[in-house]
Amino acid sequence: MFLAMDTQDKIELLSEASQYDLACACGTGGKDRRHRGVDGRWLYPVPVARGGQGIMLKSLLGNECVNDCRYCPFRAGSDVRRVVIQPEEMAHAFMEYDRREDLIGLFLSSGVMRDPDYTMARLNETARILRQRYRYRGYIHLKVIPGASDAAIEDALSLASAVSVNIEVPGEAHCRRLSTRKDYLNDIIRPMKLISRLTARGAKYAGVCQTTQFVVGAASETDAEIVRYTGGLYKRLGLDRAYFSAYQRGLGEAELASANLPPGKDPLLREHRLYQVDFLLRRYGFDDQEIPFEPDGSLALDRDPKQAWAERHPEFFPVRLSTAPREGLLRVPGLGPTSVTRILASRKEGRVRDLREVGVRGKRLLKASAYVAAE
Ligand code: SF4
Repeated sequence: MFLAMDTQDKIELLSEASQYDLACACGTGGKDRRHRGVDGRWLYPVPVARGGQGIMLKSLLGNECVNDCRYCPFRAGSDVRRVVIQPEEMAHAFMEYDRREDLIGLFLSSGVMRDPDYTMARLNETARILRQRYRYRGYIHLKVIPGASDAAIEDALSLASAVSVNIEVPGEAHCRRLSTRKDYLNDIIRPMKLISRLTARGAKYAGVCQTTQFVVGAASETDAEIVRYTGGLYKRLGLDRAYFSAYQRGLGEAELASANLPPGKDPLLREHRLYQVDFLLRRYGFDDQEIPFEPDGSLALDRDPKQAWAERHPEFFPVRLSTAPREGLLRVPGLGPTSVTRILASRKEGRVRDLREVGVRGKRLLKASAYVAAE
């Protein structure tokens, strides 16, 4: 049933509906992780490049969908209120919000209305109105709808700052378990490869970022499978970021297997461990093949993945503070890129004997001290 609603009501509903999609610059760790507010709603702080956090308007253009992804509350046939907003209406509303709130950008997604290219045309039209009529030069992230044509994708790339196709699961077999309508290779992998070619260094849309998202725990996928796929996407497709969204029990089909975790374990902790691995791949020089897993393919929940790696590689330690290269220092539990940069800078002025000299304190100091030597 479609409801007559004013624009504000529609955006409120569609914006709430977009909470399941994290494939933008949403927080990934510590205080900037998503969490529930006092009213039980999910909160998504967005880190801003210049520091601090900003507000991005995240919304769907419509929550009706012809697909049947079993984990999704908006799948065809599910009993939810269906709402659609027109491109013109969304663009105008966004500019109004932007004037009042100083937004850092727009994240626009949608259910698959009618067919992929019909939906893409509406997403692209919204961005076109913003770029051409309102001369908006800020950040626009457009979702690429599974199954979109090459022409529709190229149109999106000509308008957006970033695009994302949600891969959702690591591999075709898992995809078949979750949807009878999505063709993993043609609808998801083909668009990702096309975007990768068109945004590669020197290509026509080289400045546009590509991200993706895995839904974690809806299929019987293991962390090891997700990590291998993530590593492959970084190495082979030059993906900018992968995001992980813990499947929220109760949103999908009633009979859908519960999150792939022992009862009582927090699915958000699994999501958090995957983000920690993602950092190891992108910023610490780890290869996906080096990430340690439990015998069942899961990441340890009781320790972070760098700690788990260090415990399995005693031959690598102690790392010498005065001589170790950057990549060696980055393997030390408790040391991050900032501390390592400080150690390297301090070494130019003299020997570093103690991690406290470079600002490492508290639990991180305790952790790292067991793995380093001054000489
Ligand atoms: S394509 Fe799948 S995940 Fe996306 S809105 Fe439709 S049913 Fe939900």
